Amino acid sequence: MVKTSGENRPVLVIDFGGQYGHLIARRFRELGYRVTHLPAKTVKGAGVREVTAEVAGVVLSGGPASVWESMHDDIVRAVLNTGIPMLGICYGHQLLAKMLGGRVSKAPKPEFGPTEVRILRPEDPIFKGFHSDRILVWMSHNDAVITPPPGAEVLAVSEGSPVAAMRVGDRIYGVQWHPEVSHSQYGSRLLMNWAEISGIPRGWGESEILNLAVQTLKEQIAGLEGGARVISAVSGGVDSTVATVLAEKYSELDIIPVLLEHGLHPAGWVEDTVDALRSLGIEVVVVDVSDRFLDALKGLTDPEVKRKVISRLYFDELHRIAKEYNAKGLIQGTIYPDVIESGGLPGADRIKTHHNIGHREAAHGLIIIEPLRWLYKDEVRRLGRMLGIPDSILNRQPVPGPGLAVRIEGEVTREKVEVVRRADAIVREVIRNHKLEEGLWQYFAILTGSRATGVKGDRREYGYVIAVRAVESSEAMTARAARLPWEVLEEIMVRITREVPGVTRVLYDLTSKPPATIEWE
Ligand code: GLN
Repeated sequence: MVKTSGENRPVLVIDFGGQYGHLIARRFRELGYRVTHLPAKTVKGAGVREVTAEVAGVVLSGGPASVWESMHDDIVRAVLNTGIPMLGICYGHQLLAKMLGGRVSKAPKPEFGPTEVRILRPEDPIFKGFHSDRILVWMSHNDAVITPPPGAEVLAVSEGSPVAAMRVGDRIYGVQWHPEVSHSQYGSRLLMNWAEISGIPRGWGESEILNLAVQTLKEQIAGLEGGARVISAVSGGVDSTVATVLAEKYSELDIIPVLLEHGLHPAGWVEDTVDALRSLGIEVVVVDVSDRFLDALKGLTDPEVKRKVISRLYFDELHRIAKEYNAKGLIQGTIYPDVIESGGLPGADRIKTHHNIGHREAAHGLIIIEPLRWLYKDEVRRLGRMLGIPDSILNRQPVPGPGLAVRIEGEVTREKVEVVRRADAIVREVIRNHKLEEGLWQYFAILTGSRATGVKGDRREYGYVIAVRAVESSEAMTARAARLPWEVLEEIMVRITREVPGVTRVLYDLTSKPPATIEWE
């Protein structure tokens, strides 16, 4: 991965399975710091000494465990022994407190969501640039540090956290709140202050992002001959497009970009993807496998089963096509969060491979090429811009892998796909006509599993119920239903009930995330 010398040692984020691990890493990169982000399991497998050999600071993330379960004591002890500057966040803060001799127990008052924190030591450099000693931050904890470790300085308190922030010596800080969440005031500033106090070198920007992707690509294809043929799985989304364009530009491979037409794409998606890539000089091969997908989905109603069947079929088909073309490798748009979430990071014996050689796993005899596997979404967009990919693709709304199948409650049939596709196209069109898309994270239609009575032309009709979802969000961790103007909602309703046969009712989903998710299934 990134070759490290004194000047470019990264921050290591050890992820204990918290919800916001990715955000911690992303924030540091936004601030211009190099980051390596590893799940605790990987760190344990590889050995703390090994993974911290060349890092400038360690951040311990939040996590669902309680410190008295002693799941991560060994990791924290070992990092403490290295003397590397540390920052504990939430569970990480609690771990530091415990391992240094403090006391953690059930919080007198658990705190969730926006919480006021009172800063007791505004002169501490960790609070540099804060303009108030009462700040509103995002908390999410059941446990709390009750007694600070000996010698620790309590820097801040809240109603439920007698030690909301602490400093131990001058190299270790802990905060109970989540500075990485955009709702936390001065969150990025706190992270930056910590990095400055800890002497972490800066050096992450456009050229590093491009270098990392190119270097990863080169390492992954090292075993292939110059003109070797590979296929690239193009979905039309940002990641696979950027991966394909990058590989076209920076390798000698004979790349065949393949888009599987599984019959579950939104209206116009396949055509737009083909056109956009053509404008970049890339000809996509569209392979129609929609019958197989729709047949495989017959009778399935459980969302998880639907997802599993689709992703299995997707890979089977890709591999079948790869074989047909006699391809040696498969390019995929996998990004860092996918790698971590799938648990796909190399374990003990391969941690070094992960850093220096890149991931090279043969699946069905194919070399897997994932040049974006160390990048976050916003970095992939930046890279895409450097590669000249138009904004119309880089800003495309995310569509889940299984496409419209997860926007149809219950069994997926050809008829239902058509209904939701047409309704969805109307939602998009109306929003676009009113120029509302800029403020929205996602907007789409769902075909619910309910039916409702309607009257169309004096004739009673027992038809489909369409739900419309439009949300505002900055990173999909939290989201709010958009306050669309009533006229816009009405226009959507009128057009869907008129233009999509079989629909008798249109609802608007008001639910935020949490408690709901953005997608329905
Ligand atoms: N599980 C711990 C608690 O409930 C830490 C939570 C967290 O890191 N978000 O306090």
